[in-house]
Amino acid sequence: MKSKLSDNLRRVKDRIANACGRVDRSPDEVTLVAVTKYVGIDVIRQLVESGCGDLGEARVQELTQRAAMTEEMGQRSPGHALGSAKGQAPPNWHMVGHLQRNKVKPLLQWVSMVHSVDSLRLAEEIDSQAAKLDKTVDILLQVNAAGEKQKFGVAVGAVPHLAEQLVSLENLRVCGLMAMAPLAGEADQVEWTFARTREIFEDMLKDRALQPHFRHLSMGMSQDFEQAIERGSTMVRVGSALFEGIELEKPDNPD
Ligand SMILES: *Cc1c(COP(=O)(O)O)cnc(C)c1O
Repeated sequence: MKSKLSDNLRRVKDRIANACGRVDRSPDEVTLVAVTKYVGIDVIRQLVESGCGDLGEARVQELTQRAAMTEEMGQRSPGHALGSAKGQAPPNWHMVGHLQRNKVKPLLQWVSMVHSVDSLRLAEEIDSQAAKLDKTVDILLQVNAAGEKQKFGVAVGAVPHLAEQLVSLENLRVCGLMAMAPLAGEADQVEWTFARTREIFEDMLKDRALQPHFRHLSMGMSQDFEQAIERGSTMVRVGSALFEGIELEKPDNPD
């Protein structure tokens, strides 16, 4: 399994590098967030040992469980710790799925970045819970660039205003935008979604109130990460492409 995973990882990284090459970008500008919702803790451990420092989950319960496990692994075997075996820091966990306000509190202890903030009320809840933990939380605003068919995300026209409203929240940093292309989207719809999101992103880069933190564009999944990179993505959230040919059961979570 390990070599299969390494092969997949190498292939995805090559594809990222090639996509960067096509548009004269450096691969260093693109963070690979490995979305682990399909796999168990053994695979997660191997990902971290292979140098994946950024992991993502779509649900709060899974993220908190898994983040606790990766931290525990690190503590249990100092010297061979997850975080130290190859001089790696412990993984950053990214919350990429829809987030409900009542789940914010358990999430915050473990999460490095929340990609899916789509309302003022949710942002305010994150800010107030973060204040209680004396933390500052990095967030992205999820943009509904594909239009009405998508359930989550802020309407494109409302994104800049929402970002400005969040500038005054002290325990939260607006670090950029996140978008998802329509799942069964035609190639041109995918292209359009990414292009539209990038447009609004570039406009917002000019807003001094959002500097210096506003700089990430989280776009691209297994199906479309190369297109997303060509459209300026700085974070790709890749799951299935990493786990092709690997047993997908989740031993730590039989449900
Ligand atoms: C599952 C998921 C991903 C990864 O999807 P793949 O198509 O398996 O790469 C990315 N982003 C979000 C929000 C997800 O829920």
